[in-house]
Amino acid sequence: MSSVIVMNLIVIVLFYFYNILNIFAILPIMYANIESILDKVVQSHTLCEKEILYLLETKDTKKLFSAADEIRKKYSGDEVHLRALIEFSNYCKQNCLYCGLRRDNSHVTRYRVEPQDIIESARKAKNYGYKTIVLQSGEDSYYTVERMAKIISGIKDFDFVVTLSIGEKTFEEYKAYRDAGADRYLLRIETTDETLYNKLNPGMSLKNRMLCIENIKKLGYEVGSGIIAGLPGQTLESIAKDIVYLKSIPVDMAGIGPFIYHPDTPIENIKGDFFELSLKIITILRLLMPDINIPATTAMDTLNKEGRLIALQSGANVIMPSITETIYRKYYEIYPGKVCLGATPADCRYCIENKIKSINRRISTGKGFHIRQSGL
Ligand code: SAM
Ligand code: SF4
Repeated sequence: MSSVIVMNLIVIVLFYFYNILNIFAILPIMYANIESILDKVVQSHTLCEKEILYLLETKDTKKLFSAADEIRKKYSGDEVHLRALIEFSNYCKQNCLYCGLRRDNSHVTRYRVEPQDIIESARKAKNYGYKTIVLQSGEDSYYTVERMAKIISGIKDFDFVVTLSIGEKTFEEYKAYRDAGADRYLLRIETTDETLYNKLNPGMSLKNRMLCIENIKKLGYEVGSGIIAGLPGQTLESIAKDIVYLKSIPVDMAGIGPFIYHPDTPIENIKGDFFELSLKIITILRLLMPDINIPATTAMDTLNKEGRLIALQSGANVIMPSITETIYRKYYEIYPGKVCLGATPADCRYCIENKIKSINRRISTGKGFHIRQSGL
């Protein structure tokens, strides 16, 4: 037999075995049902991408949400951690197509809060019993490493845990913030679909976003990441991959928010139930990572006035009430319809407390670090 025929035979045999193996991989999913997948994930906290996809597609959401609520209760208990959010600048050098703060949006009135005033807002938050301050902004070069270090150490003087959410930086910058006392960093991956990420975030790249998250992890921060659910062009298959990615880091905190169209952005306005999609993602993350912190994000309240409470009953255990001074709130318009724009930091604190009590949960008095109860 000539060597060409032998090679062809080998290729045919390999192709045959490859298909057989694939059929065996798909069979369990074809015969899976919600009960068997939930049984598996509740026992092992693992799922393959196809099983995640099955849960993302399921109409049987009641079982999914209540399984996540039980896991949340078992591993995180009934306490809700509050993180006080200061949105201190809406200047941004980036141009993400979905975001109202993007550089090219000329309709925004831009503002910056001076370092001393940021520290003063944090000091006042002590009186409301907050243990964590989250500093969030667009990517604003006004806040040099020195200025940020001054803000962080000034806030640490009040014995706060400090979380930063100020975008992509170099390793050295992340290190300087960490040296100044920052404890946690939130940087959503937004989507792991590289083509989509690069299209929606001009001038940025998925590779660099992932590198930033790796660097944050290396420096010993608690890592927060997450995605926007419902981005135009996003598929459920790509969301399943996002979930696998978040588990692979693994994150200490996962923030999921529905996409909300902003009319002053160039992105397409697509319709869809991104509230339910976000809830499904939250529940799957809770089932896969039983003891991480998962916020009920403010964007959930924009789509449903009880949105954050529903998220708290579907796996979430964190709320981030705004303590941004009222004068600035309407200008931090990432998306329209943000709740509590006219409220003061005190209003937000008491409103949240009442909401949490209304579902028989209580506000945590601890610092709310990620405690690995599940051994994962
Ligand atoms: N500039 C920092 C960054 O991008 O990481 C932090 C601030 S940015 C406003 C915080 C988050 O807002 C982003 O990570 C993104 O997920 C979310 N966001 C932006 N535009 C949004 C929209 N139209 N709908 C929902 N979430 C949006
Ligand atoms: Fe800037 Fe963040 Fe908005 Fe992107 S998502 S434009 S980086 S504020």
